[in-house]
Amino acid sequence: MQLQKKLLLPLVLTMGLGLTLAQIVPRSSWCRTPLSPRLPRLMGPVRYIIIHHTVTPACYNPFQCQNAIRRIQLDHLRRRFRDIGYNFLIGGDGRIYEGLGFGIRGEHAPHYNSQSIGIAFIGNFQAGLPPPQMLQAARTLIQIAVQRRQVVPNYILLGHCQTKGTLCPGQHLLNELKKWPRWQKKP
Ligand SMILES: [Zn+2]
Repeated sequence: MQLQKKLLLPLVLTMGLGLTLAQIVPRSSWCRTPLSPRLPRLMGPVRYIIIHHTVTPACYNPFQCQNAIRRIQLDHLRRRFRDIGYNFLIGGDGRIYEGLGFGIRGEHAPHYNSQSIGIAFIGNFQAGLPPPQMLQAARTLIQIAVQRRQVVPNYILLGHCQTKGTLCPGQHLLNELKKWPRWQKKP
């Protein structure tokens, strides 16, 4: 019994550390230019987590996902965004990619940007559900956001289509979100 306790404690500590430090792939992995210091800040903890899909081809490994994120950033810059519009992106490889990250105001959901963190699933989920590793990664990211006090503990989870007329994040992903803790029908 004693021995078991001794073995378990470091394991729990390591897992905790992994959750808070290791699981977000930094922006520098896909983008050579650092964030502009002039970007508007996001004052946390915020109230909403808003889920999107990118309506781009799915990616299955870091190489593909990093390319996909660069293309999304280019598209957003062409649309006169300040940078990539999302705070985080979820890859088909099950990794959490930093977009703007925490503390920077996104451009992903008009009227909600200053009170939300925007998380985009790479792919199109109008036709089917994201694979389990993507769902798990998003749930881990939400836990990290709560732990780091970037969202309030009683945050409200929404699909983008609940804030404006859009199909985003796709019917299948929206149906999945409805089963998650803290999803709400009305913003
Ligand atoms: Zn969206």
